[in-house]
Amino acid sequence: MSSPSPYVDEVPEGIPTTLDWVVLSADMATIHAAQRYASIVELWDDAIRAATRDEGASVLVERSVRLEVASALRISEHAAGRLMGVGRALVKRYPAVWESMSHADITDTHATIIVDGLDELDVVRDDLIGEVVALAEEMPTGPFRRAVKQIVDREREATIAERHMDAVARRHVRVEPGADGMAWLTAHLPAVEAHAIHGRLTAIAKTLDDERSLDQKRADVFGDLLIDGETESLPDTVRGIRPTVTVTVLALTLLTGDGSAAQVDGVGPIPLDRARELCGAASGWMRVLTHPETGVVLSVGREQYRPPADLRRLVAWRAARCMAPGCGIPADRCDIDHTVDWHHGGHTDATNLAPLCRGHHTLKHHTGWHVRAQPSGALEWTSPAGRVYLVHPERRIPQFTTDPPPF
Ligand SMILES: [Zn+2]
Repeated sequence: MSSPSPYVDEVPEGIPTTLDWVVLSADMATIHAAQRYASIVELWDDAIRAATRDEGASVLVERSVRLEVASALRISEHAAGRLMGVGRALVKRYPAVWESMSHADITDTHATIIVDGLDELDVVRDDLIGEVVALAEEMPTGPFRRAVKQIVDREREATIAERHMDAVARRHVRVEPGADGMAWLTAHLPAVEAHAIHGRLTAIAKTLDDERSLDQKRADVFGDLLIDGETESLPDTVRGIRPTVTVTVLALTLLTGDGSAAQVDGVGPIPLDRARELCGAASGWMRVLTHPETGVVLSVGREQYRPPADLRRLVAWRAARCMAPGCGIPADRCDIDHTVDWHHGGHTDATNLAPLCRGHHTLKHHTGWHVRAQPSGALEWTSPAGRVYLVHPERRIPQFTTDPPPF
């Protein structure tokens, strides 16, 4: 007897549907994958024990086990090595993660993301493992991967100012010979400056209207500027071009010094002192401060269908990506959708707007999926089979009260 379909059948209580079978068999595969990791680690431990008489052979033991596993599973040695590495991490270093996977509470992919993320840290606290496992049990892999990256950045951030200072001390410029009468001129610089230099070269190069490729123009401008020290050798239009670097930092963080680090688009976290400097001074920096005094319009209610530009930007900024479950399409390539249709009385308002990629936008309007917005900006997706998935935006619009601050 075949299982009833949640799409076309009346489903009697207690009878698994075809969708239930999909989930059950995936869970079984995960449980077996966890067992495979444990068995590989056990096999490896056995091999190490058997080889203790031959000191210094641990690399050889590892290679031998790798070939053993690869041959038995008919997979590449690279893939076998990966299984061994992830397995050892799960079983020995992060047993709570293995435990969760062995109950199919998280998938193999989630476990792998956790191992790759946590292994970047020098010290991993137990509560941190608990935190990522709890997230893994809730989130699809795409958003989870980004969440783990943020957590890892946050943990590394504790020491970022120190590490950045050490790295800045090693800045340098070098010339190395290249072939055919060429040479490499490389500069090791703080990332913000490096991006600013590249940005300015690109901006100037784009104003030059001739046959040269963009790469060639950038290289020529670079040489002209450094050799002559000014832009006089270049057309008038390129003078005064300054780079723009987007720095995102919470106003509160800037004032109090705690909270998350500043982020530079395309660079990642930078030390807070540096951000404070950038946001306070130079005119070439575009500041994205989240603050009530920015005067961003949060709602135009029923006045207007099309959201004003700053509201669109705010909604895209909050979500960062398409707000469909697990989708990773950046918000700037998405449509801004009214969650409750304008034609059904929906407001043009931050709580009723969310970016959706073209594919998911179409899906929302033309299939049996139902979407509801929550006040936090999260979207609740209900599938045609009746399952519910909550998609949280990447960021929150800060809630400010008119009460005076408590100090
Ligand atoms: Zn999407």
